[in-house]
This record gives sequence, C-alpha cells and structure tokens, in this order.
Amino acid sequence: MINCNREDVDIPEIKNQRWTTEIYKKLGIIFHNKCYLCETKEFNPATFEVDHFISQSKDLSKKLDWNNLYLACRGTCNQYKSASFDNILDPCSHDVEKLIIYELTRGYFKPRFYATNPSNIKITNTCKLLDKIHKGNNKKSIYKTKTLQEVIRIQASFAIAELNHIKQNSPNTEKEKKEKIKNTQKLEQDIKEFVSRESPYTMLMRSLAERFEFKYLFD
Ligand SMILES: [Zn+2]
Repeated sequence: MINCNREDVDIPEIKNQRWTTEIYKKLGIIFHNKCYLCETKEFNPATFEVDHFISQSKDLSKKLDWNNLYLACRGTCNQYKSASFDNILDPCSHDVEKLIIYELTRGYFKPRFYATNPSNIKITNTCKLLDKIHKGNNKKSIYKTKTLQEVIRIQASFAIAELNHIKQNSPNTEKEKKEKIKNTQKLEQDIKEFVSRESPYTMLMRSLAERFEFKYLFD
C-alpha cells in the first residue's frame, strides 16, 4: 500500500455503476495503475475492479461517490476486503507508508505486515487484510494467493541480486574503480526504478532496499 493523492485529478462524470473509460483512466492516474491493496500493476486500469472503499451495503449514498471509488484486483483483493474490512487505513488520507511496517522474509521473500501502533484498530485491520491477501486464511484463499506470492518472490530475487551486486566488489586498480562508478550509476538507476511508487510492490521492494541503505533513492 502506498500513499495516493486524488486532489490533482478532476472528478469525472458518474451516472451509474457502468464505469466509463474516463473513470478508469482517472483512477489509474490516482493509483498509478495499481491495486491499492496489493500493489499489483496493470497496463490497463480497466483490468481492475472498481472497489467501494466504504461498502455500498453499509452506506448506499457512497455508491456513486467519486471519493469512494478505488482500484483493486478482480476476484481476489476486492473480494477479500468485502464489507468485513471496512475499518481500514485509507491510502488517500492516511500515511500508509509510515503506519505499516512492510517486510519480506529473508530467503523466501514472504511478505509480512506489522502495525506501528498495535492498539490502533485501523492499522491492525489493514495489516490483517494485507496478510489475508498475501497468505490467504482458508484452503481456497491459500491456493489463490500462490500466484501473487510467486510474482513477488521473483521480483524480489532480481532486486536482491542488484542490491548485493552494488554492495560487493571492492576495486583495486584505477580501471576497476572507474568501472565500479559506471556500474554503480547504472545499478542505482535500476534500484530507483523498482522502489518507485510507479512500480509494482513498491513498499515490499523498499523494505529490501532499506536493508542495504538505499533509502536516498526513494521518490
Ligand atoms: Zn490486489
């Protein structure tokens, strides 16, 4: 989950629940074409489902309210959230990047989410939901989360290889030193890209980069 900003995007026309291309396009800008829960990224925002942040079953007036429309994965994240997780952090108004601690376990890169303040119900609920999305909590959801786990694991393996590479290799000769500077610039550019808010799984990738003290490359 990353912080998102709706303020710079004009409100589109919303007549009914048949979401137009304009609505999807504008939601894509706000959420960087990513699911606001798991941060999976799609080229086309219409691949996602439009999620009601406050469930329609709780408040019907929110059905066509622009500020209540979010982008989430079809059939998984959107479903896992449902009405049972209505009291969670809002990435458009809460600092979700600081309130949750994101972690990938060493070795297997399993996503973990911790509340910075365990007595805050919104934060703990959000962590519970993110756990459910990434690990599942019954036979069916455990099976369904395997793909997301695998995609994150592969991306993290590439990231860790680059991070390790940049920290290793102590040059001896002048030529090696020059070579290292050149390579470092290129690797830093790559790291900048995978920790950017525009990239998939930003917060989990940032947790890796932080271990290697690359916080200065965050956008
Ligand atoms: Zn998702």
